[in-house]
Amino acid sequence: MVEGSDRQLQPGTLYLVATPIGNLADITLRALEVLRAADVIAAEDTRHTRKLLSAHGVHNRLLSYREHNHEAATRQVLGMLEEGKTVACVSDAGTPGLNDPGQRLVQRVLQQGLEVVPVPGPSALLAALVASGLDCANFLFLGFPPRRPEALREQLEQVSQLPATLVFYESPRRLADTLAALAATLGPRPAVVARELTKLHEQFLRGSLEQLAERFAGQEPRGEVVVLVAGSKRQRPRLELSGELKQLADAALRGQRLGTSQLAGLLSRLTGNKRRELYDWLSRLRREHEQ
Ligand code: SAM
Repeated sequence: MVEGSDRQLQPGTLYLVATPIGNLADITLRALEVLRAADVIAAEDTRHTRKLLSAHGVHNRLLSYREHNHEAATRQVLGMLEEGKTVACVSDAGTPGLNDPGQRLVQRVLQQGLEVVPVPGPSALLAALVASGLDCANFLFLGFPPRRPEALREQLEQVSQLPATLVFYESPRRLADTLAALAATLGPRPAVVARELTKLHEQFLRGSLEQLAERFAGQEPRGEVVVLVAGSKRQRPRLELSGELKQLADAALRGQRLGTSQLAGLLSRLTGNKRRELYDWLSRLRREHEQ
């Protein structure tokens, strides 16, 4: 056995076990150990998970944990953990908790003061990011984009200036509309559509957002996709050394005392606040200092 083996699981613990996102061989030795040793496996789709387990010779008890039964299933899982049992949570694909019902379960388990242990492995997010060729050191994962065009535009405007790769999950049905919205809001940036990761027809389509939007217009690609967009290249604006700023800096460096009215005028021009309000504020401040 290797050091750190999980054959002896910690009682009363929820294990988040990553499973393949396509290629059945993408499962770690530790994941298989935990899936064998846990008292029960909470799975999003028990039929789907049973196929994966059979392929690896794992025969264990399964419990359905999906969006529509999550309240009853959560109570069941919490009850088992409180009795000191161990539960392995798996999603349909990849790392449970990353945009699937696992996230809610983790929060409830932690609220009860119980333990959560990750068993890392595949995730579409990281597989797509590392092979995209875009910046991996700075990235922002945004999950599934909002469906309402207005909400999507708002989200994109909030992140449009960030110098970080933007990563989205998307359904093939909505891909064309999402690419069109990205191109319209973010402009001609490099982007990648990563399709069918780890599967037979894995594909990375690279181009500008406009080219990709055009490529997929009116089309629904087969299989699952991740969309990645290069971060903003815009440099921070250089500090504008205005005359007012220089006057203030000069006075501070010389230890010179500026009159309330003069200071209010300078600050008003620098900040856009009303001169009268600044005057009153500075007068109060001055009185406090003189007390
Ligand atoms: N928990 C999963 C993970 O770790 O990646 C993600 C679950 S989320 C409900 C499903 C989304 O992940 C899909 O809509 C797609 O955007 C992405 N995805 C999952 N498998 C993929 C694959 N093989 N190729 C491309 N995208 C994939």
